[in-house]
Amino acid sequence: MQQQLRFNTTDSQTAAATKKPFSKWRALKNVVKYGLVASVAYGTYTMYDQRHPPEQQGEIDPSKKTIVVLGSGWASTSFLKAIDTEQYNVVVVSPRNYFLFTPLLPSCTVGTIDVRSLVEPIRFITRHKSRQVRVVEAECTDVDPERKVITITDNSDIKGQASTSELSYDYLIVGVGAMNQTFGIKGVEQYGCFLKEVWDAQKIRTKVMDCIETAAFPGQSSEEIERLLHMVVVGGGPTGIEYAAELHDFLVDDLTAWYPELAGKVKITLVEALPNVLPAFSKQLIDYTESTFKEQNINIHTKTMVKEVCEKEIVVQRPDGTKDTIPYGLLVWATGNTTRPLVRNLMARYPEHQNIRRGLAVDDWLCMEGTKEIFALGDASATKYAPTAQVAAQQGKYLARVFAQLASQETLEAEVAAATSEDEKAKKMRKLQKAKDIKPFHYSHQGSLCYIGSDKAIADLPFGPGNVASGGVATYAFWRSAYISNLFSTRNRTLVITDWLKKTILGRDISRE
Ligand code: FAD
Ligand code: NAD
Repeated sequence: MQQQLRFNTTDSQTAAATKKPFSKWRALKNVVKYGLVASVAYGTYTMYDQRHPPEQQGEIDPSKKTIVVLGSGWASTSFLKAIDTEQYNVVVVSPRNYFLFTPLLPSCTVGTIDVRSLVEPIRFITRHKSRQVRVVEAECTDVDPERKVITITDNSDIKGQASTSELSYDYLIVGVGAMNQTFGIKGVEQYGCFLKEVWDAQKIRTKVMDCIETAAFPGQSSEEIERLLHMVVVGGGPTGIEYAAELHDFLVDDLTAWYPELAGKVKITLVEALPNVLPAFSKQLIDYTESTFKEQNINIHTKTMVKEVCEKEIVVQRPDGTKDTIPYGLLVWATGNTTRPLVRNLMARYPEHQNIRRGLAVDDWLCMEGTKEIFALGDASATKYAPTAQVAAQQGKYLARVFAQLASQETLEAEVAAATSEDEKAKKMRKLQKAKDIKPFHYSHQGSLCYIGSDKAIADLPFGPGNVASGGVATYAFWRSAYISNLFSTRNRTLVITDWLKKTILGRDISRE
């Protein structure tokens, strides 16, 4: 019996031992299965929720203060998402009725991603707020701080009877971003292509294909073919680098197959005034990018300053001071930002307080210096931070918190005045003191990423007191997942993933738009 028992025990132990890895495998399978079901259910719910906005309360409440938000970019959209519309009337004024996810815009220039996958209509956000938000597709052309009024103009192609109007504000949020910097160099506006907006990416895509088809026109001289197929990028910042990288991938992945006679003649050149590209990245990543570009046959001309842009060539100043010309078919101009006229006009109203050329000087709470009711954020403001989406988004979220605290201050002030006993008054006063203690804006840097072509990316990530620099294919996987998770909505995520799959399976579309 004892022997039998022992035998049984050993048997069940053996069974357990053989079952253990199996049950672990089964547990893993269950986790994956239920995880998938949960994410599909969550995705379906969020998409349903997005398509079916709830009933909203009425529009303008005269008892509440009105915030007018200028722009629908990173800064303004992040503010809009976080602002409590129960506490304020909110009006958005922007010449474009959508938010654009700029980090993936270079991918649209060659058709890796469709521009529609990167935009999110601003009404998708405002319709989900508890109280109605007024959205006006117009450009703010003037701000009158004395009257607390802005002038708005409908600059779209179709205009109604009314195309200019005025709007009053209690608080004004200036999130109009910046314009492309040209340094006043002759010919840039006329012949160069910028890369900032949806239409810029579309224009570049059309022009690339036009250059190639024109080069294929019968009887073209070899010199002309060489010029037409020379794609020049000016500016070795992240925009210029990412564009050159995308163009390289398009050339290798698609053009080689569809234009075998021309693809070998396509040349990509990047011109940079400084001694190296990507000055904001760490030295090893700069070297890695430059060597990767060399492997990809992308020519980098550093210490070379563009002095003039003509219809078919650029005039550059070489490191030794001599002038030279570079013929081009397509010219992409990516030399950074400058302030918009609206921002310059606003600055001119406060000459004593506003003298930073980069943008609107603000205090630590993002309030425009010299004013009490105007706030500036994102690329329109001049702070110690780089003009990036990360900074703009964090500022927008922060400013919504500031407004929440301002609203609770007002409520508490009324409650203090209405307090019936000393005890109650003291209690409310303590709360009011707390609400008045608004912490200054603090930026938390999440790292810098840049795509450099051939499925490689670079990343400078903060780690402890220093940072970790990494580059290569694994970093590209990280780059992709970081951008996918940062995309605006489930809709955008689905569209971008579909675009990537389409590109991998079917290749990019080479037809001209
Ligand atoms: P924007 O996003 O430019 O928005 C400005 C808004 O104001 C727009 O809606 C515009 O239509 C509107 N507007 C303009 N004029 C007026 C007016 N007169 N009245 C009312 N509204 C007006 N940053 C990163 O951190 N990571 C990246 O990977 C990255 N990649 C980038 C790639 C590209 C190609 C580019 C161009 C930029 C990239 N950036 C990136 C930088 C980032 O896009 C900007 O810093 C960010 O867009 C700034 O946000 P913003 O809200 O201040 O301005
Ligand atoms: P940038 O200011 O970063 O770089 C512009 C470059 O152009 C500079 O290196 C400058 O030396 C060069 N330049 C200027 N004039 C020149 C001339 N005449 N000839 C030759 N070179 C000239 O501009 P950007 O790349 O457009 O970036 C703008 C902002 O957006 C930056 O803050 C950047 O960090 C951010 N951004 C970030 C990413 C990313 O994180 N992946 C991508 C794009 C943009």
